[in-house]
Amino acid sequence: MSLRSGTRLLLCSLLFPVAAAPAKPPPPAGVTILYDAFGDRSDLTRDWGFAALVDYGGKRVLFDTGNNAEIFARNVRALHVDLHSIDFVVVSHRHGDHTAGLNYILRVNPKIRIYAPKESFGVFGAALPGTFFRTDTTLPAKMRYFDGTPPAELRFGTAWPGANFTWVDTLTEVAPGFILVSTVSKTPGTLELHELSLAVRTPEGLVVLVGCSHPGIETILEAVRGAGDHVHLIMGGLHLVNAPDAEITRIAGVLDRDWHVDLIAPGHCTGEPAFAALQRQFGNRYRYAGLGTFVRLRGPG
Ligand SMILES: [Zn+2]
Ligand SMILES: [Zn+2]
Repeated sequence: MSLRSGTRLLLCSLLFPVAAAPAKPPPPAGVTILYDAFGDRSDLTRDWGFAALVDYGGKRVLFDTGNNAEIFARNVRALHVDLHSIDFVVVSHRHGDHTAGLNYILRVNPKIRIYAPKESFGVFGAALPGTFFRTDTTLPAKMRYFDGTPPAELRFGTAWPGANFTWVDTLTEVAPGFILVSTVSKTPGTLELHELSLAVRTPEGLVVLVGCSHPGIETILEAVRGAGDHVHLIMGGLHLVNAPDAEITRIAGVLDRDWHVDLIAPGHCTGEPAFAALQRQFGNRYRYAGLGTFVRLRGPG
């Protein structure tokens, strides 16, 4: 190489630096089912519970975490999901079939932000002003809470100490187009259970992810109105697993005819008879969503 061509090469590399490796293209917009008890993929482990990964508008969100941390870890690895790439986690409610995988996520990504329902004295922890109780100043100090001088705030224990929880109990847009919808169950057996659903704004309407729908899917949809006026797609557990046929048929009709939901992709505790009824009601607007399924969404742009 002559001095001249060497100089030219140097000049060229200064003017036109070697292009960096092309950035990884963003994942396609959609929802991947990471945890459920039905599906035909032999490389994944079926178990009762729910977890789904939402990729939309450059954000990656984990909705629920399944029933068993080791099975969750296995499915996450088999589906090549890097838990470091997740922007935040939403835990729909306190039941173990939605929360157990938190133990794995916190091992991999201990500081990840986790949105969870705000409940007093719940498993996700809580805080109350130190003045939350009535006082009696006539008592001697040793009979008074904190000798009569409580701290400004009292924090209550959580099953996951150190986790970066943000408690939510009102409709909250946590990232552009990602809205958490808070409802409370009035159903016997899960009375006063707080549940978060996730509504994602898309050009076709809201995509609504539900964990178990303990407050009832109709109650959840009423609350979702605060996020937008049209529901394009519902995914997740509708909790009709032991509902009688008449109730299942009623709900299927209500979702289609009254709420004008375009598509339905039920999973988890929706139940086998409800899968059948929803498929009958929605026809080609029914989306199969077994374990490992990717349900594509139309992107924001
Ligand atoms: Zn539940
Ligand atoms: Zn459940």
